[in-house]
Order: sequence, then structure tokens, then C-alpha cells
Amino acid sequence: MSDTIEKVKCLIIGSGPAGYTAAIYAARANMAPVLYQGTQPGGQLTTTNEVENFPGYPEGVTGPEMMIQLQKQAERFDTDVRDGWVTKVDFSGDVHKVWVNDTKEIHCDTVIISTGASAKYLGLESEQKYLKLGGGVSACAVCDGFFYRNQEVVIVGAGDSACEEAHYLSKLCKKVTMLVRRDEFRASKIMAARVKNTENIEILFNTETDEVVGDGQVVTGVKVFNNKTDEKHEIPATGFFVAIGHKPNTDIFRGFLDLDETGYIINVPGTSKTNIEGVFVSGDAADHVYRQAVTAAGTGCMAALDAERYLAAKDATFDVSTSTYN
Ligand code: NDP
Repeated sequence: MSDTIEKVKCLIIGSGPAGYTAAIYAARANMAPVLYQGTQPGGQLTTTNEVENFPGYPEGVTGPEMMIQLQKQAERFDTDVRDGWVTKVDFSGDVHKVWVNDTKEIHCDTVIISTGASAKYLGLESEQKYLKLGGGVSACAVCDGFFYRNQEVVIVGAGDSACEEAHYLSKLCKKVTMLVRRDEFRASKIMAARVKNTENIEILFNTETDEVVGDGQVVTGVKVFNNKTDEKHEIPATGFFVAIGHKPNTDIFRGFLDLDETGYIINVPGTSKTNIEGVFVSGDAADHVYRQAVTAAGTGCMAALDAERYLAAKDATFDVSTSTYN
């Protein structure tokens, strides 16, 4: 445990589009934000190749490049961007306490949580290989579906996300094969019906993935097996989409913040406010519906504005123009 406790006006946890956008706004409002990057600096976008749907990039931009630019923009206004992993918080008192790497203790006037969510993968070695190569494995159809126009793809999952993504892909791709591990969908009836009624989606029930097959660079097919009959076959495909759910990175806030049954932070509707005053949330940590870089950035902006207003209301002597208490 460190003996010096640092005091911070605005602590931002996480370095995806939500965190950096919050930092840009907070820094420009003289809130002297400190941002901890976490274990995956840049967040989920760093596992995406090309981002073509973020406004302002007519030629597209790679995920890692966009995150470097966002970091530079935040630092241009003197955001203090630091390596470090927030391992513990205590929001039970008037002062919001945060520990970095289990040692450094920080007392914060405001905290903006932008810890995001992590897509779940099957965990197969072949899946992880082509994911890392950027060779045809993706957990986001809206982000990457465009690259598989007029091609054949496979998607795994049977929930609302999988149905929504399969339907999205069906409008771009020649054929979508959907692998459902049980003999029924988990998705709502209406979403499942939409998939069933789409001509170029083939649904294979009781079917699981054995291996993602490729040429060493890109995906060329998927080996599957029927878990009732043990029958095996290979499906030709250039894209392998995994839509088996996301896990919000919110474990350290459990017990302090209201979370839904999946672990997403519950915000006051239309705001970034949590159930604790002075603690705000942005990005995928509170969003299981949209999960886009641009929506994350939008809520990052909201969180910084909410934090600024909270500080101003809490202490009328706080002068945002000089960042000091009078
Ligand atoms: P869910 O947890 O609802 O579904 C995950 C799906 O993935 C399940 O069908 C599950 O199968 C399957 N799955 C999990 N692990 C594996 C595996 N190892 N191999 C094969 N299949 C696997 O996650 P979603 O992301 O779909 O949805 C999360 C929440 O968000 C839900 O509440 C959903 O309703 C909501 N949502 C709503 C939308 C909307 O209303 N427009 C859109 C998207 C999501 P099994 O069924 O066998 O467990």
C-alpha cells in the first residue's frame, strides 16, 4: 500500500472511444483528467482491422490507428494518460477511492467508468489464430460484415445478438450459415422468426464448431459437428462471426454500483449518472444494445459534461475556468 494518496478531480477508467472522448471533454473543461488505460490500451477497437463507420474518416481507418489519434487528441489538452489497471474501488463514502495495480490509492472528486465489455469467443486455437491475424474472425458483424460482401460466412450463437447480426450479414453476404448448439434459439421469438424467414440464412441446429480452417493467412472454411449424431462436415466460408455474448468489465464495481443481471452498469436513463453521485458511466460498460465506437464516444462526452456539472453544483467555489477551488 502506498503512503501517499493522490487527489484527482476527474479519474477516467478505460481507454476506448468512450474514455478518450470523456478525457477530451473533461480536459477542455479544465478538470485535469487522469486516465488509466487498463490491460488493453485502446480497448476493443484494437482488435478490429478497418473501421469504416466512424464519421469523419471517409477512407476508413484501422482500429489501432484511430485509438492512437484519440489518445493524441486527449493528450493535446493535457489529459494525464497513464499505464495501469484499476483493481479495486470503494464508493461507499463521500470520497471516491480507487486503487491502481493494487497499490496506488487515489481519491477522486469524480470517476468516469469506461471499462467497456469483452466479446466472448469459443476459445478454439484456430479461432484465436485467425482473430489475431485479422484474417476473417470477428465478434462484430456491424463493424466487419462489409468486408464479406457477396461472400459466404458462418456465425455462431442463438441469442438476440446472433439473430440480429445474422440478419445484418444476410443483406451483405451471399450466404450465412448459423450454428446453433441446441435444438432451439435463445433469442426472442420475433428475432428467431426473422432469421428463419430469411432465404440466404441456413440454420444448423445441434451444431458446434470443431475448427476454423484457413490457408495460414485467411479463413477458408469451418469444420463443424452435429452434437446429436456426431456427423462432421466442412462449410466453405471466408468469415467466421462469433455472437455468443459479451461480458461487461464491471466486476470491481459490484457491491457499489447497480448492475443488471448480466453485469452491465445501470445508468439513470438519458444520462451517464450511476446510483452513486459523482460516479458516471460511458460506453459498453452500460450498453448491451448499440455497442458501437460512435455511441461509446457519444456517452463519453455525456459523462464528462455530467461530471463537470456535478462538480460545479457540488461546490459553487469550483472555478472550471482555472480548475481551482476559490
Ligand atoms: P445471450 O447470452 O442472450 O446469448 C448467447 C448465445 O450464444 C446463446 O444462444 C448461447 O447458446 C450461445 N452460446 C454461448 N456460448 C456458446 C458456445 N461456446 N458455443 C455456441 N454457442 C454458444 O447473448 P446476446 O449477446 O445474444 O444477448 C445479450 C442480451 O442483450 C440479451 O438480454 C438480449 O436479449 C439483449 N439483446 C437485445 C437485442 C435487441 O433487443 N435488439 C439485440 C442484442 C442483444 P445457448 O442458448 O445454448 O445457451
